[in-house]
Amino acid sequence: MAILEVKNLEVYYGVIKALKGISFDVNEGEIVALIGANGAGKTTTLHTITGLLKSASGSIQFDGNDITRIRGDKIVGMGMAHVPEGRRVFAALSVYENLKLGAYTRRDKNEIEETLQMIYKRFPRLLERKNQPAGTLSGGEQQMLAMGRALMSHPKVIVLDEPSMGLSPLYVSEIFDIIQEINKSGTTVLLVEQNAKKALSIANRAYVLETGDIVLSGDAKELMNNDSVKKAYLSE
Ligand code: ATP
Repeated sequence: MAILEVKNLEVYYGVIKALKGISFDVNEGEIVALIGANGAGKTTTLHTITGLLKSASGSIQFDGNDITRIRGDKIVGMGMAHVPEGRRVFAALSVYENLKLGAYTRRDKNEIEETLQMIYKRFPRLLERKNQPAGTLSGGEQQMLAMGRALMSHPKVIVLDEPSMGLSPLYVSEIFDIIQEINKSGTTVLLVEQNAKKALSIANRAYVLETGDIVLSGDAKELMNNDSVKKAYLSE
């Protein structure tokens, strides 16, 4: 069953049409990847479904609700959390304070504490560094923190924008392992990546974006063997 359904989404920056009427869906329990080159419209897509950008036309259904015109903070409360490109952690705040901020839509203190302990278990390095300013963490640790902060809202769907960007290969593998673990524990994942090889290796399905259009979609393993995908996105 689709937990997220995007139909004919058009988004403009001024007169520039960044998304030309794209449609895609994400089923409950899946990892779905959006891949594509620089400037294809991946970030624009995520910003629109998470309520940071307004669409000119089209619709977005999430968990049975029309969220096309809903504000970003409300969408978080409805169960969709966003891990932005470049992590955007609050550098001067401690790891713990950053995590607590992720729970701003929740009220129950005991439940928040439970989630926090679950996150410390999943990311032991965040526990070790809980009192350190986030700005002192390495890039990979900041990515973990950004993911942990998003998980603090106890989302049904987590939306990840370029989690591998700027990370060493070792960290990239670790982050992708964690994404799979998060998914196995019941969170649906929508993943935007320029690292198509990595993304397709963990995704169930994927969509290929090119200059604001979806040009290909399907089973991730099949796309990995598709000649045009190989040529455009998987060459070393
Ligand atoms: P990247 O990986 O570089 O973020 P992307 O696939 O996420 O690429 P977008 O950032 O969504 O691509 O950009 C899609 C198109 O919209 C590009 O042509 C880009 O130049 C344009 N664009 C993005 N942000 C703005 C903006 N604030 N103002 C004007 N044009 C923009």
